[in-house]
Amino acid sequence: MHVMEKLTSTQAIELEDKYGAHNYHPLPVVLEKGEGVFVWDLEGKRYYDFLSSYSAVNQGHCHPYIINALKEQAEKLTLTSRAFYNDTLGAYEQFATKYFGFDKLLPMNTGAEAVETALKLTRKWGYEKKGIPADQAKIIVCENNFHGRTITIVSASTDPDAKKNFGPYTPGLEVIPYNDLDALATALKDNNVAGFMLEPIQGEAGVFVPDEGYLAAAYKLCKEHNVLFVADEVQTGIARTGKLLACDHENVKPDVLILGKAISGGVFPVSAVLANDDIMMVIKPGEHGSTFGGNPLANKVAIAALEVITNESLADNAERMGEIFRKEMNDFIATNDLVKLVRGKGLLNAIVINDTEDSDTAWNICLKLRDNGLLAKPTHGNIIRFAPPLVMTEEQLHECISIIKTTISEFQK
Ligand code: PLP
Repeated sequence: MHVMEKLTSTQAIELEDKYGAHNYHPLPVVLEKGEGVFVWDLEGKRYYDFLSSYSAVNQGHCHPYIINALKEQAEKLTLTSRAFYNDTLGAYEQFATKYFGFDKLLPMNTGAEAVETALKLTRKWGYEKKGIPADQAKIIVCENNFHGRTITIVSASTDPDAKKNFGPYTPGLEVIPYNDLDALATALKDNNVAGFMLEPIQGEAGVFVPDEGYLAAAYKLCKEHNVLFVADEVQTGIARTGKLLACDHENVKPDVLILGKAISGGVFPVSAVLANDDIMMVIKPGEHGSTFGGNPLANKVAIAALEVITNESLADNAERMGEIFRKEMNDFIATNDLVKLVRGKGLLNAIVINDTEDSDTAWNICLKLRDNGLLAKPTHGNIIRFAPPLVMTEEQLHECISIIKTTISEFQK
Protein backbone atom coordinates (compact mmCIF):
# COMPACT_ATOMS: atom_id res chain seq x y z
CA MET A 1 0.00 0.00 0.00
CA HIS A 2 1.35 3.46 -0.94
CA VAL A 3 1.48 5.85 2.01
CA MET A 4 -0.39 8.58 0.15
CA GLU A 5 -3.16 6.27 -1.06
CA LYS A 6 -6.63 7.05 0.34
CA LEU A 7 -7.39 4.49 3.02
CA THR A 8 -10.58 2.89 4.15
CA SER A 9 -11.41 3.24 7.84
CA THR A 10 -10.50 -0.41 8.41
CA GLN A 11 -7.09 0.07 6.81
CA ALA A 12 -6.39 3.21 8.83
CA ILE A 13 -7.25 1.42 12.07
CA GLU A 14 -5.05 -1.55 11.12
CA LEU A 15 -2.10 0.76 10.42
CA GLU A 16 -2.37 2.48 13.80
CA ASP A 17 -2.74 -0.85 15.49
CA LYS A 18 0.32 -2.32 13.82
CA TYR A 19 2.74 0.63 13.88
CA GLY A 20 1.54 2.84 16.73
CA ALA A 21 2.02 2.34 20.46
CA HIS A 22 -1.15 1.07 22.08
CA ASN A 23 -1.46 3.89 24.60
CA TYR A 24 -5.05 4.77 23.60
CA HIS A 25 -8.23 2.81 23.02
CA PRO A 26 -10.04 4.93 20.41
CA LEU A 27 -13.66 4.51 19.43
CA PRO A 28 -13.56 2.82 16.01
CA VAL A 29 -14.20 5.78 13.72
CA VAL A 30 -11.60 7.37 11.43
CA LEU A 31 -11.99 11.10 10.88
CA GLU A 32 -10.62 13.04 7.95
CA LYS A 33 -12.41 16.37 8.00
CA GLY A 34 -13.92 18.80 10.48
CA GLU A 35 -15.95 21.99 10.26
CA GLY A 36 -17.66 23.73 13.16
CA VAL A 37 -19.56 21.17 15.24
CA PHE A 38 -19.14 18.43 12.62
CA VAL A 39 -16.53 15.84 11.67
CA TRP A 40 -16.57 13.41 8.74
CA ASP A 41 -15.13 9.91 8.49
CA LEU A 42 -13.20 8.44 5.57
CA GLU A 43 -16.40 7.07 4.06
CA GLY A 44 -18.00 10.53 4.11
CA LYS A 45 -20.36 9.95 7.05
CA ARG A 46 -20.97 13.10 9.11
CA TYR A 47 -21.02 13.18 12.91
CA TYR A 48 -21.68 15.73 15.63
CA ASP A 49 -18.48 15.94 17.67
CA PHE A 50 -19.43 15.68 21.35
CA LEU A 51 -15.88 15.49 22.67
CA SER A 52 -14.25 18.48 20.95
CA SER A 53 -10.84 16.81 21.32
CA TYR A 54 -11.19 16.85 25.11
CA SER A 55 -12.37 20.47 25.02
CA ALA A 56 -9.58 21.77 22.78
CA VAL A 57 -11.87 22.60 19.86
CA ASN A 58 -14.22 24.95 21.74
CA GLN A 59 -14.29 27.36 18.78
CA GLY A 60 -15.36 24.56 16.39
CA HIS A 61 -13.27 22.57 13.94
CA CYS A 62 -11.07 24.51 11.52
CA HIS A 63 -12.46 27.90 12.46
CA PRO A 64 -11.66 30.03 9.39
CA TYR A 65 -10.46 33.02 11.43
CA ILE A 66 -7.98 30.90 13.40
CA ILE A 67 -6.86 28.89 10.37
CA ASN A 68 -6.25 32.12 8.51
CA ALA A 69 -4.02 33.39 11.33
CA LEU A 70 -2.09 30.10 11.19
CA LYS A 71 -1.68 30.26 7.41
CA GLU A 72 -0.57 33.88 7.31
CA GLN A 73 2.03 33.37 10.01
CA ALA A 74 3.18 30.01 8.58
CA GLU A 75 4.34 31.76 5.43
CA LYS A 76 6.32 34.36 7.36
CA LEU A 77 8.08 32.92 10.40
CA THR A 78 7.38 29.78 12.43
CA LEU A 79 10.10 29.37 15.03
CA THR A 80 12.91 31.48 16.42
CA SER A 81 13.33 29.77 19.79
CA ARG A 82 13.63 32.10 22.74
CA ALA A 83 17.31 32.66 22.01
CA PHE A 84 16.06 35.70 20.07
CA TYR A 85 13.04 37.95 20.28
CA ASN A 86 10.26 37.57 17.75
CA ASP A 87 7.74 40.20 16.71
CA THR A 88 4.65 38.25 17.86
CA LEU A 89 5.38 37.07 21.41
CA GLY A 90 5.22 40.39 23.24
CA ALA A 91 2.00 41.32 21.47
CA TYR A 92 0.45 37.96 22.37
CA GLU A 93 1.60 38.24 25.99
CA GLN A 94 0.14 41.73 26.23
CA PHE A 95 -3.12 40.58 24.69
CA ALA A 96 -3.47 37.45 26.84
CA THR A 97 -2.46 39.05 30.16
CA LYS A 98 -5.04 41.80 29.61
CA TYR A 99 -7.61 39.20 28.50
CA PHE A 100 -7.22 37.14 31.68
CA GLY A 101 -6.16 39.93 34.07
CA PHE A 102 -2.63 38.93 35.12
CA ASP A 103 0.74 40.72 34.98
CA LYS A 104 2.68 38.00 33.18
CA LEU A 105 2.35 34.92 30.96
CA LEU A 106 4.79 32.06 30.52
CA PRO A 107 4.20 30.28 27.19
CA MET A 108 4.46 26.50 26.79
CA ASN A 109 2.93 23.97 24.37
CA THR A 110 0.97 21.13 25.95
CA GLY A 111 -1.22 21.10 29.03
CA ALA A 112 1.14 18.81 30.92
CA GLU A 113 4.06 21.17 30.31
CA ALA A 114 2.04 24.07 31.64
CA VAL A 115 1.15 22.03 34.74
CA GLU A 116 4.84 21.19 35.26
CA THR A 117 5.64 24.88 34.85
CA ALA A 118 3.05 25.81 37.48
CA LEU A 119 4.45 23.21 39.89
CA LYS A 120 8.00 24.51 39.42
CA LEU A 121 6.83 28.11 39.83
CA THR A 122 4.90 27.23 42.99
CA ARG A 123 7.86 25.44 44.57
CA LYS A 124 10.27 28.24 43.70
CA TRP A 125 7.88 30.83 45.13
CA GLY A 126 7.59 28.65 48.23
CA TYR A 127 11.35 28.76 48.82
CA GLU A 128 12.10 32.30 47.74
CA LYS A 129 9.01 34.19 48.94
CA LYS A 130 7.41 32.08 51.64
CA GLY A 131 10.70 30.89 53.13
CA ILE A 132 10.10 27.13 53.06
CA PRO A 133 13.33 25.28 53.99
CA ALA A 134 15.26 23.78 51.07
CA ASP A 135 13.65 20.74 49.44
CA GLN A 136 10.73 20.68 51.89
CA ALA A 137 8.04 22.29 49.73
CA LYS A 138 4.71 20.51 49.46
CA ILE A 139 1.95 20.89 46.94
CA ILE A 140 -1.55 19.67 47.78
CA VAL A 141 -3.55 17.96 45.01
CA CYS A 142 -6.94 16.22 44.92
CA GLU A 143 -8.03 12.60 44.62
CA ASN A 144 -9.14 11.63 41.12
CA ASN A 145 -7.27 14.55 39.60
CA PHE A 146 -6.12 14.61 36.00
CA HIS A 147 -3.30 17.00 35.17
CA GLY A 148 -1.46 15.13 32.39
CA ARG A 149 1.09 12.37 31.95
CA THR A 150 4.60 13.37 33.06
CA ILE A 151 6.36 11.51 35.88
CA THR A 152 5.66 14.27 38.40
CA ILE A 153 2.04 14.61 37.33
CA VAL A 154 1.36 10.88 37.54
CA SER A 155 3.08 10.96 40.94
CA ALA A 156 0.16 13.18 41.98
CA SER A 157 -2.41 10.87 40.39
CA THR A 158 -4.67 8.41 42.22
CA ASP A 159 -5.62 6.52 39.04
CA PRO A 160 -3.83 3.14 39.00
CA ASP A 161 -3.82 3.06 35.16
CA ALA A 162 -2.03 6.40 35.02
CA LYS A 163 0.38 5.58 37.82
CA LYS A 164 1.22 1.90 38.18
CA ASN A 165 4.80 0.89 37.33
CA PHE A 166 5.89 4.43 36.54
CA GLY A 167 7.65 4.91 39.89
CA PRO A 168 9.73 5.97 41.68
CA TYR A 169 7.42 8.92 42.15
CA THR A 170 8.18 12.59 42.72
CA PRO A 171 7.97 13.49 46.42
CA GLY A 172 6.37 16.60 47.88
CA LEU A 173 2.81 15.95 46.71
CA GLU A 174 0.00 15.41 49.19
CA VAL A 175 -3.36 14.06 48.04
CA ILE A 176 -6.58 15.11 49.76
CA PRO A 177 -10.20 14.34 48.81
CA TYR A 178 -11.77 16.72 46.27
CA ASN A 179 -14.57 18.99 47.44
CA ASP A 180 -13.54 18.56 51.09
CA LEU A 181 -12.76 21.82 52.87
CA ASP A 182 -11.98 20.15 56.20
CA ALA A 183 -9.31 18.01 54.56
CA LEU A 184 -7.86 21.12 52.93
CA ALA A 185 -7.87 23.05 56.21
CA THR A 186 -6.00 20.19 57.91
CA ALA A 187 -3.45 19.85 55.10
CA LEU A 188 -2.82 23.60 55.10
CA LYS A 189 -1.65 23.52 58.73
CA ASP A 190 1.76 22.38 57.49
CA ASN A 191 3.91 25.50 56.98
CA ASN A 192 5.80 23.82 54.17
CA VAL A 193 2.79 23.86 51.85
CA ALA A 194 3.52 26.12 48.89
CA GLY A 195 0.42 25.52 46.79
CA PHE A 196 -2.92 23.83 46.31
CA MET A 197 -3.48 22.68 42.72
CA LEU A 198 -6.93 21.64 41.52
CA GLU A 199 -9.30 21.45 38.59
CA PRO A 200 -12.32 23.72 39.25
CA ILE A 201 -14.41 20.87 37.77
CA GLN A 202 -12.75 17.46 37.49
CA GLY A 203 -13.12 16.71 33.78
CA GLU A 204 -11.40 13.38 33.21
CA ALA A 205 -12.70 11.98 36.49
CA GLY A 206 -16.19 12.24 34.99
CA VAL A 207 -17.15 15.91 35.16
CA PHE A 208 -17.30 16.17 38.95
CA VAL A 209 -18.69 19.58 39.85
CA PRO A 210 -17.77 20.56 43.42
CA ASP A 211 -20.36 22.03 45.78
CA GLU A 212 -21.20 25.65 45.21
CA GLY A 213 -18.88 27.78 47.30
CA TYR A 214 -16.07 25.20 47.42
CA LEU A 215 -13.69 27.14 45.17
CA ALA A 216 -14.23 30.44 46.96
CA ALA A 217 -13.82 28.84 50.40
CA ALA A 218 -10.73 26.87 49.29
CA TYR A 219 -9.20 30.06 47.91
CA LYS A 220 -9.87 31.86 51.19
CA LEU A 221 -8.26 29.05 53.19
CA CYS A 222 -5.19 29.19 50.94
CA LYS A 223 -4.89 32.94 51.49
CA GLU A 224 -5.14 32.51 55.27
CA HIS A 225 -2.16 30.16 55.11
CA ASN A 226 -0.08 32.05 52.53
CA VAL A 227 -0.46 29.21 50.03
CA LEU A 228 -0.85 29.64 46.27
CA PHE A 229 -4.18 28.65 44.75
CA VAL A 230 -3.22 27.00 41.46
CA ALA A 231 -6.11 26.41 39.05
CA ASP A 232 -5.69 23.87 36.26
CA GLU A 233 -8.18 25.21 33.72
CA VAL A 234 -6.69 23.29 30.79
CA GLN A 235 -10.05 21.57 30.24
CA THR A 236 -12.51 23.89 32.00
CA GLY A 237 -11.11 27.19 30.72
CA ILE A 238 -11.77 29.26 27.60
CA ALA A 239 -15.58 29.46 27.90
CA ARG A 240 -16.23 25.72 28.18
CA THR A 241 -18.27 25.92 31.40
CA GLY A 242 -20.28 29.01 30.46
CA LYS A 243 -17.77 31.58 31.77
CA LEU A 244 -14.32 32.42 30.43
CA LEU A 245 -12.86 30.44 33.34
CA ALA A 246 -14.66 27.96 35.59
CA CYS A 247 -13.22 29.86 38.60
CA ASP A 248 -15.24 32.90 37.43
CA HIS A 249 -18.42 31.13 38.58
CA GLU A 250 -17.27 31.84 42.13
CA ASN A 251 -15.36 35.06 41.41
CA VAL A 252 -12.10 33.39 42.34
CA LYS A 253 -8.94 34.72 40.76
CA PRO A 254 -6.28 32.00 41.03
CA ASP A 255 -2.74 32.95 41.98
CA VAL A 256 -1.47 30.70 39.22
CA LEU A 257 -3.67 29.92 36.21
CA ILE A 258 -2.90 27.01 33.88
CA LEU A 259 -4.36 27.06 30.36
CA GLY A 260 -4.01 24.79 27.33
CA LYS A 261 -6.22 23.05 24.78
CA ALA A 262 -8.74 25.68 23.55
CA ILE A 263 -6.35 28.60 23.97
CA SER A 264 -5.41 27.59 20.41
CA GLY A 265 -8.86 26.43 19.29
CA GLY A 266 -7.34 22.99 18.88
CA VAL A 267 -5.29 24.16 15.91
CA PHE A 268 -1.85 23.92 17.40
CA PRO A 269 -0.37 22.90 20.80
CA VAL A 270 -0.42 26.07 22.90
CA SER A 271 -0.44 26.29 26.68
CA ALA A 272 0.30 29.00 29.19
CA VAL A 273 0.79 29.79 32.84
CA LEU A 274 -0.38 33.16 34.08
CA ALA A 275 0.49 34.87 37.36
CA ASN A 276 1.24 38.29 38.77
CA ASP A 277 4.76 39.68 39.07
CA ASP A 278 5.29 38.79 42.74
CA ILE A 279 4.99 35.12 41.74
CA MET A 280 6.11 34.92 38.12
CA MET A 281 9.27 36.96 38.61
CA VAL A 282 10.85 34.28 40.82
CA ILE A 283 11.77 32.53 37.57
CA LYS A 284 14.92 34.02 36.07
CA PRO A 285 16.65 33.52 32.70
CA GLY A 286 17.87 29.97 32.21
CA GLU A 287 15.67 28.49 34.94
CA HIS A 288 12.81 27.26 32.74
CA GLY A 289 11.86 27.18 29.08
CA SER A 290 10.85 25.33 25.94
CA THR A 291 12.14 25.45 22.38
CA PHE A 292 8.66 25.80 20.92
CA GLY A 293 7.01 27.78 23.75
CA GLY A 294 6.06 31.24 22.51
CA ASN A 295 6.65 30.47 18.85
CA PRO A 296 5.18 32.86 16.28
CA LEU A 297 2.59 30.40 14.97
CA ALA A 298 1.31 29.69 18.47
CA ASN A 299 1.19 33.38 19.35
CA LYS A 300 -0.88 34.34 16.32
CA VAL A 301 -3.15 31.31 16.64
CA ALA A 302 -3.81 31.96 20.34
CA ILE A 303 -4.71 35.61 19.79
CA ALA A 304 -7.14 34.59 17.03
CA ALA A 305 -8.61 31.78 19.14
CA LEU A 306 -9.26 34.12 22.08
CA GLU A 307 -10.73 36.77 19.77
CA VAL A 308 -13.21 34.19 18.47
CA ILE A 309 -14.32 33.42 22.03
CA THR A 310 -15.17 37.08 22.58
CA ASN A 311 -16.46 37.97 19.12
CA GLU A 312 -18.85 35.03 19.04
CA SER A 313 -19.90 35.27 22.71
CA LEU A 314 -19.04 31.62 23.18
CA ALA A 315 -19.15 31.70 26.99
CA ASP A 316 -22.74 32.94 26.91
CA ASN A 317 -23.66 30.39 24.28
CA ALA A 318 -22.12 27.58 26.32
CA GLU A 319 -24.08 28.73 29.37
CA ARG A 320 -27.37 28.85 27.47
CA MET A 321 -26.89 25.59 25.54
CA GLY A 322 -25.78 23.86 28.74
CA GLU A 323 -28.98 24.87 30.54
CA ILE A 324 -31.06 23.45 27.70
CA PHE A 325 -29.00 20.26 27.57
CA ARG A 326 -29.25 19.49 31.29
CA LYS A 327 -32.95 20.35 31.48
CA GLU A 328 -33.82 18.12 28.52
CA MET A 329 -31.62 15.30 29.78
CA ASN A 330 -32.99 15.55 33.31
CA ASP A 331 -36.56 15.35 32.00
CA PHE A 332 -35.53 12.35 29.93
CA ILE A 333 -33.74 10.41 32.67
CA ALA A 334 -36.75 10.80 34.94
CA THR A 335 -38.41 8.29 32.60
CA ASN A 336 -35.39 6.09 31.91
CA ASP A 337 -33.59 3.62 34.19
CA LEU A 338 -30.40 3.34 32.19
CA VAL A 339 -29.11 6.80 33.08
CA LYS A 340 -28.61 7.60 36.75
CA LEU A 341 -27.84 11.29 36.54
CA VAL A 342 -26.68 14.17 34.41
CA ARG A 343 -24.27 16.80 35.71
CA GLY A 344 -22.05 19.58 34.48
CA LYS A 345 -21.70 23.28 33.81
CA GLY A 346 -22.02 25.12 30.52
CA LEU A 347 -21.18 22.64 27.77
CA LEU A 348 -19.04 20.37 29.95
CA ASN A 349 -21.51 17.68 30.95
CA ALA A 350 -21.69 13.97 31.64
CA ILE A 351 -24.25 11.28 32.17
CA VAL A 352 -23.69 8.48 34.64
CA ILE A 353 -24.92 5.10 33.47
CA ASN A 354 -26.81 2.94 35.91
CA ASP A 355 -24.38 0.04 35.84
CA THR A 356 -21.19 -1.12 37.53
CA GLU A 357 -18.00 0.88 36.92
CA ASP A 358 -16.36 -1.98 35.06
CA SER A 359 -19.33 -2.65 32.76
CA ASP A 360 -19.02 -1.97 29.03
CA THR A 361 -22.47 -0.37 28.82
CA ALA A 362 -21.14 3.20 28.38
CA TRP A 363 -18.75 2.03 25.65
CA ASN A 364 -21.56 0.20 23.85
CA ILE A 365 -23.82 3.25 24.08
CA CYS A 366 -21.00 5.32 22.51
CA LEU A 367 -20.79 2.81 19.64
CA LYS A 368 -24.53 3.20 19.06
CA LEU A 369 -24.28 6.98 19.29
CA ARG A 370 -21.58 6.79 16.62
CA ASP A 371 -23.87 4.73 14.40
CA ASN A 372 -26.52 7.41 14.91
CA GLY A 373 -24.13 10.23 13.97
CA LEU A 374 -22.79 11.55 17.27
CA LEU A 375 -19.32 10.98 18.74
CA ALA A 376 -18.76 10.78 22.49
CA LYS A 377 -16.45 8.76 24.70
CA PRO A 378 -16.76 7.18 28.16
CA THR A 379 -14.48 8.76 30.75
CA HIS A 380 -14.28 6.40 33.67
CA GLY A 381 -16.15 3.16 33.07
CA ASN A 382 -19.79 4.09 33.28
CA ILE A 383 -19.64 7.85 32.65
CA ILE A 384 -20.08 9.48 29.23
CA ARG A 385 -18.83 13.03 28.77
CA PHE A 386 -20.75 15.35 26.45
CA ALA A 387 -18.66 18.35 25.42
CA PRO A 388 -19.52 19.65 21.94
CA PRO A 389 -17.88 22.71 20.35
CA LEU A 390 -19.30 25.90 21.84
CA VAL A 391 -20.40 27.22 18.44
CA MET A 392 -23.37 24.82 18.52
CA THR A 393 -26.74 26.41 17.67
CA GLU A 394 -29.93 25.67 19.58
CA GLU A 395 -31.37 23.85 16.59
CA GLN A 396 -28.28 21.63 16.33
CA LEU A 397 -28.36 20.98 20.06
CA HIS A 398 -31.98 19.81 19.89
CA GLU A 399 -31.08 17.43 17.09
CA CYS A 400 -28.22 16.06 19.21
CA ILE A 401 -30.40 15.67 22.29
CA SER A 402 -32.86 13.74 20.15
CA ILE A 403 -30.06 11.43 18.90
CA ILE A 404 -28.91 10.82 22.48
CA LYS A 405 -32.44 10.12 23.74
CA THR A 406 -33.28 7.78 20.87
CA THR A 407 -30.01 5.89 21.24
CA ILE A 408 -30.40 5.39 24.96
CA SER A 409 -34.08 4.44 24.63
CA GLU A 410 -33.23 1.82 22.02
CA PHE A 411 -30.27 0.52 23.95
CA GLN A 412 -30.44 -3.07 25.11
CA LYS A 413 -28.01 -3.99 27.90
N1 PLP B 1 -4.91 19.28 32.84
C1 PLP B 1 -6.19 18.94 32.62
C2 PLP B 1 -7.24 19.40 33.56
C3 PLP B 1 -6.52 18.16 31.51
O1 PLP B 1 -7.79 17.80 31.31
C4 PLP B 1 -5.49 17.73 30.65
C5 PLP B 1 -5.80 16.88 29.48
O2 PLP B 1 -6.83 16.29 29.34
C6 PLP B 1 -4.18 18.12 30.92
C7 PLP B 1 -3.91 18.90 32.02
C8 PLP B 1 -3.04 17.67 30.04
O3 PLP B 1 -3.05 18.33 28.83
P1 PLP B 1 -2.19 17.74 27.60
O4 PLP B 1 -2.85 16.47 27.19
O5 PLP B 1 -2.26 18.81 26.55
O6 PLP B 1 -0.81 17.52 28.11
